[in-house]
Amino acid sequence: MSHHSSEDSKPHFEQGPVQVLFGERGGAYPDGNSILVRGENETLLIDPAVGLHERAENLPQIDRVILSHCHEDHIAGLSLFPDTPVHVHTLDRPGLESLDQMLAIYGYGGPIEAAFREILVKTFHYAPRPDAQTYADGDVFDAGGVTVRALHAPGHTRGHSCLMVEWSEAGAHRRLLYLGDIELTGFGPYYGDAWSDLEDFERSLSWARDVEADWYATFHHIGVLEGRAPFLARMDIFEGAIARRETNLLKFLAEPHTLQEVADHRFVYRPGDDVSFAEAVEKRSMQQHIDRLVTAGRVRALAEGRYQAQ
Ligand SMILES: [Zn+2]
Repeated sequence: MSHHSSEDSKPHFEQGPVQVLFGERGGAYPDGNSILVRGENETLLIDPAVGLHERAENLPQIDRVILSHCHEDHIAGLSLFPDTPVHVHTLDRPGLESLDQMLAIYGYGGPIEAAFREILVKTFHYAPRPDAQTYADGDVFDAGGVTVRALHAPGHTRGHSCLMVEWSEAGAHRRLLYLGDIELTGFGPYYGDAWSDLEDFERSLSWARDVEADWYATFHHIGVLEGRAPFLARMDIFEGAIARRETNLLKFLAEPHTLQEVADHRFVYRPGDDVSFAEAVEKRSMQQHIDRLVTAGRVRALAEGRYQAQ
């Protein structure tokens, strides 16, 4: 193995057959943390991040790639493995068919979509994989002495799934739950795409809280948490962002505002965050909050597309 200085400063996680390939800056977007699972029969790679392009010569032979979901940062390293079988949940598979179908997952439209189309290819190395195979909830990949079980946890995307890695070591059963983009950050859950759903995400969070594992791993920032207490503490912070956005929205809607004004005010990103698709994400995310507040009778729709809390 060669050692770059950036490698030496990265966190390290290796337990039994599982190794986390940490991305730059703790796996901050656009990079991420990929998971390597070395079985007796096969070596699996979960969510190949963009950073793998710079360390490809250090990677072992990969027999199978498994994706937690079809988003640009989780498939950015996939083009390194054009002949390797790749698996994704049935509902997210269209994203691997073509660039157009990939863009439909986000549903940004207009100039934001035109810019993002270019970013997908240039920054994230998007290449179609019409040969991609599907998995469903509960499907198991047996790599020999270690298994990976798909657990459908939608909301972030329709097909978003967590992956449970299980093996035995010195007679003990070991479990690492890879959470994908249930990323446990202070930023909070991302449900800003056409294929995202706030209430599915909430159901997935409540389900994930009850999943027992020795370690919990995320694609971004957090990396690996050991034991349930730190996992549940981070879940509280992560999930708390949903209530915070909703509370802030209700305050803002004390005066009547349109969805465009809500998006301009920013409830998901901070006003200074330079994100090309921020406006589309703000609109899609906050429309879902508005819709459910209207249904609950806490916000009313006024003339000319304005909303007001009541
Ligand atoms: Zn994602």
